[in-house]
Amino acid sequence: MSRGVRMVMLGRQGAGKGTQCVRLSRHYVVPHISTGDMLRAAVREGTPLGRKAHEIMNNGGLVPDDLMIDIVDDRLDRDDTTSRGYILDGFPRTVGQAEALEKITASLPLDLVVDLHVATEVVLERLASRRVCADCGHNYSVDAPPKYGWVCDNCGGDVVQREDDKPDAISKRLAEYEANTAPLIEWYRDRGLLEVVDGLGPADEVTERLYAVVDARRSS
Ligand code: AMP
Repeated sequence: MSRGVRMVMLGRQGAGKGTQCVRLSRHYVVPHISTGDMLRAAVREGTPLGRKAHEIMNNGGLVPDDLMIDIVDDRLDRDDTTSRGYILDGFPRTVGQAEALEKITASLPLDLVVDLHVATEVVLERLASRRVCADCGHNYSVDAPPKYGWVCDNCGGDVVQREDDKPDAISKRLAEYEANTAPLIEWYRDRGLLEVVDGLGPADEVTERLYAVVDARRSS
């Protein structure tokens, strides 16, 4: 266990960001801030934000920048993130969000940005077989289902296919990624913050690769 880091995780949908961010957040003892999880919780609770985001998310589109920036600005202002750090997953997704994040983090800048790299052909297969617990968000796949039926091993919730993992929404989300989010890779490279990590192979090996780049950045 090794405390503290401020980082962003980039990568295509299905690259394994969710799984790896949970591990990193335990290892570095920092909150895992997933904007997708925050939005899904808002949809479940039927808040005004959830009502605005629901349809956009189901279609695989992007929630407007101003809403997303407000949510992240509020979250990064809390004591746990200012004192220990965070792992941001799913934000920024556009250059506008990255510029806003640069301002929000001006006094406590990012240590690094990771691009968890997995090719499109591979993520397409992973996303088609992905299943997720509707309550706690734990990921499964048709090849690695829960132990009993489609009931979550962690919390007993229903394990389902996400609406936005269905074929039409998947192509839209991957197209959004290429158009809006992939340009951030160069944007962060130009700022000297980028580390590219190969996301292929057993999850434990990917985790070790991530620890290595994070540790190198924190000690530099
Ligand atoms: P994710 O679980 O990160 O794939 O996010 C699921 C969905 O939430 C996305 O397809 C978007 O509709 C929405 N979303 C999450 N984060 C953002 C963001 N930073 N900007 C815009 N929309 C977002």
